[in-house]
Amino acid sequence: MAGKADAKNEDGKSEKTAADVGRVSYDALKKAGEMVRPGIKLLEVAEYAEGLIRKQGYDLAFPMNISINQQAAHYTPALGDEKVFGKDDIVKLDIGAAKDGILGDCAMTVDLSHNNQALLEAAQNALNDAIGTVKAGVKVNYIGKAIEKAITAKGFKPIKNLGGHGVAEHSLHAELFVPNFDNGDETELDEGMVIAIEPFATNGRGVVSDGDSYEIYDYIGPQPVRSSNARGVLAKIEKSYPHEPFAVRWLADSSSSKFGLYSSVRELFSASAINAYPVLVELGNGMVSQFEAEVLVEKDGCSVLTK
Ligand code: MN
Ligand code: MN
Repeated sequence: MAGKADAKNEDGKSEKTAADVGRVSYDALKKAGEMVRPGIKLLEVAEYAEGLIRKQGYDLAFPMNISINQQAAHYTPALGDEKVFGKDDIVKLDIGAAKDGILGDCAMTVDLSHNNQALLEAAQNALNDAIGTVKAGVKVNYIGKAIEKAITAKGFKPIKNLGGHGVAEHSLHAELFVPNFDNGDETELDEGMVIAIEPFATNGRGVVSDGDSYEIYDYIGPQPVRSSNARGVLAKIEKSYPHEPFAVRWLADSSSSKFGLYSSVRELFSASAINAYPVLVELGNGMVSQFEAEVLVEKDGCSVLTK
């Protein structure tokens, strides 16, 4: 880590920041993972991990995702969320720090059932194998092929409509898509690119669709809105979260009721001032595991930033 962080080249400064952001992200992920136990509130884990990142002077690249069982991604605790982990839950944790538009992104799965180790290994092996393929010039479908092979070897399916992605300044889902199977896309990786690789494994259909739960949004732009409460919430979003996705609970203050806040958010969404990230749910009602790392593409390999 230190060697990479201190590396000097044309882009030495942002490379160091990317390494720092990756380290802070992964540290928060690991510590959150240690907190996940039956009976503990999801909100407690999210607030702890997000607080750890902020305390070190970083922002969040997105609200911590804590997605359970058939949920693949994009759940984050609501304001005042009372939900606790159950003794058989398969828990996906996904978090990233941010600094000056440099974004971290990493994820892991905790199996509280102790009964789904193979499902976890499928995604973990897939991530390791995928990282082993990455270097400048590699085609993204070749990475996808390695992921699919590792997951099917364990008897599971990759989730085909989720995948990894390029990571650019203030853009977590930059143009490049890194598939979790061989989708025929022969786009090549370039040296110096930062990409996130995120295999999802399931015993379901291998497809997710939008659920009906919304807790994560991002800012689109100013729009006329009727209620003064919604205008106040929009002003707060413009000021505090102009770039990266935010959680509804981050917008709360002592003067806002939960009902009022969620009404304002719905109004802003209807007015197209903000965009929603619905919770993604496995279509075959399958259990889902996920591991994710961010890597820097190099000439002859890659280095993992989120470690
Ligand atoms: Mn992620
Ligand atoms: Mn990602």
